[in-house]
Amino acid sequence: MQPIPFLSQSDEAEQAAWVEALSLAMPDERIVPFAALGRDDGQAARVAIVANPDPAEVAQLPGLVWIQSLWAGVERIVHDLQGFDGTIVRLVDPELARTMAEAVLAWTLYLHRDMPAYAAAQREARWRPLDYVRPQERSIGLLGLGELGRAAAGVLLQAGFPVRGWSRTAKTVPGVETLHGEDGLADMLSKTDILVCLLPLTPQTRRLLGRRTLSHLPRGASLINFGRGPVVVVDDLIALLDDAHIAHAVLDVFEREPLPQESRLWSHPAVTVLPHISAETNRTTAAAIAAANIRAFRQSGAVPKGIDRTLGY
Ligand code: NAP
Repeated sequence: MQPIPFLSQSDEAEQAAWVEALSLAMPDERIVPFAALGRDDGQAARVAIVANPDPAEVAQLPGLVWIQSLWAGVERIVHDLQGFDGTIVRLVDPELARTMAEAVLAWTLYLHRDMPAYAAAQREARWRPLDYVRPQERSIGLLGLGELGRAAAGVLLQAGFPVRGWSRTAKTVPGVETLHGEDGLADMLSKTDILVCLLPLTPQTRRLLGRRTLSHLPRGASLINFGRGPVVVVDDLIALLDDAHIAHAVLDVFEREPLPQESRLWSHPAVTVLPHISAETNRTTAAAIAAANIRAFRQSGAVPKGIDRTLGY
């Protein structure tokens, strides 16, 4: 059987860790980093596994029918691989969804239980109890009802929060009031206390959350962005935080990562900066997903469902 090329621009140690995890998950296959791939094997490869691949390397594998990416987000690969006309399969991993749902619940509770306000009060040695609000009275708005959004909705509902969810197309999610389209967005935002963004970055979602949209939030609402940085217009967000229209923002993703030292977000008192950690790919479970997809392809020629490049996700 032809080896499976592994293409990544990450450092050598990370590449070696991936090759090891992938080899363990599919002991019948030979996973070979692009640099070690023979020319004939490269010509014959029909499937490759990638994690931020170099497009020039992908172009040297002319027989590829599909590629398995190890990341859930695809905006970079969609941009970089415009010359590749095979199927791009992204990572859909229940463990990733569980991790993200856990993060959404953790940071929702952080805002719900007023932790930023108590931390600020402690810094000033001020004893200042705030009124308790029951989760039933705190409305969560979820932007994105995909793999991650639906998992997040489940844990939020279980914790007692009413959840409204917004997506591009109409959706039914048990227990969630669902909305879609531009009117649906304004409607949802106007009734949201904590807004959680789990949208992919596409031409339609880039700069979606600016002054115009975020102003629909009631005064005192908060934002959690775990989707992609450029969905939020940072200058508009800072203006809304400065005049306390938005009380707090928890941001895990940014236009430039690592977040540059000079960014005003680092020191803004109403911002919590996280270093893109809300849901990292787990190597073991991701390798198992890739292995199952490749096994099915070897057995029946079935290519897993790919992303829609025209939509960008
Ligand atoms: P997904 O399954 O593709 O779901 C995307 C959701 O967004 C869908 O509900 C989709 O609507 C909705 N959507 C897309 N474009 C829209 C638009 N223009 N207007 C309204 N809704 C729109 O993706 P996922 O697996 O849940 O992942 C979501 C994103 O999370 C990823 O793309 C990635 O950027 C990010 N992520 C972040 C981390 C982190 O550590 N911070 C980790 C993993 C992933 P439809 O249902 O109608 O298609």
